[in-house]
Amino acid sequence: MRRSLLVPVLSLLAPALLAGGSLVAQSHGPTAKPASNVKGAPAGPHWAYEGAEGPHAWGRIDAAWRACSVGREQSPIDLGGTVMARQGRIAERFVSTPLVLFNNGHTVQAALEKASTLTIDGTPYASLQFHFHHPSEHTVRGKAYPAELHLVHKSAKGELAVLGIFIEIGARENPAFEALIAKLPHTSGDSVPFKAPVDLAALLEDRPGADEAVYAYHGSLTTPPCSEGVRWTVRERPVAVSFRQMQRLVAVLGESARPVQPVFDRR
Ligand SMILES: [Zn+2]
Repeated sequence: MRRSLLVPVLSLLAPALLAGGSLVAQSHGPTAKPASNVKGAPAGPHWAYEGAEGPHAWGRIDAAWRACSVGREQSPIDLGGTVMARQGRIAERFVSTPLVLFNNGHTVQAALEKASTLTIDGTPYASLQFHFHHPSEHTVRGKAYPAELHLVHKSAKGELAVLGIFIEIGARENPAFEALIAKLPHTSGDSVPFKAPVDLAALLEDRPGADEAVYAYHGSLTTPPCSEGVRWTVRERPVAVSFRQMQRLVAVLGESARPVQPVFDRR
């Protein structure tokens, strides 16, 4: 499953990267070490993206993670088929904020000091963090992008909403991403503070007030415990980074995507 998903991703990358071996072999292996043994990593049972503790096993590793196996509204999913794009405005008021990048052994996560606000059906959700996956977790008509960013929000009642943005490879360096990519924490447990505010609107190429094609559906966390009740908004328009920038991001992330899940009776 993972191998087949990687094929279209690898084909997007230039031969220079492939010459050095697979993307995963080149990575600094955040998924190779048990996160629970790493200083600063979250406590709890270990899980991985491959092998005996991979996605197929998550629901059996811990009783609290059963939704990973039996949930009927799991994420990610394939988009563009049953779940179609619609035109709409992403009602997010983005703010610039200091942040701390942290390598938690599964991904690189940015803890945000000041919250941006995403409003869905009148309910405000405050952003907590964003993080990355390689390749993208959502696919569009079966095709994965090289990476996906998830901006995770919480409402006052504790409900979660995630804005997903695909990252593709373009011709130019992306200056907004460069600031982050130049200082990624390479080792599990490492963190890098950004005291100067990072402009999230620039980073995510926000077009305030413009109609966008978006996929909206009810899903789950894409990592254990796979909790459901998450409001997903995935923007169709990706952001682009250069090949070199993607190479550096992927070297830190390694393979970090849950396979797509059945849609069941969601629309
Ligand atoms: Zn995620």
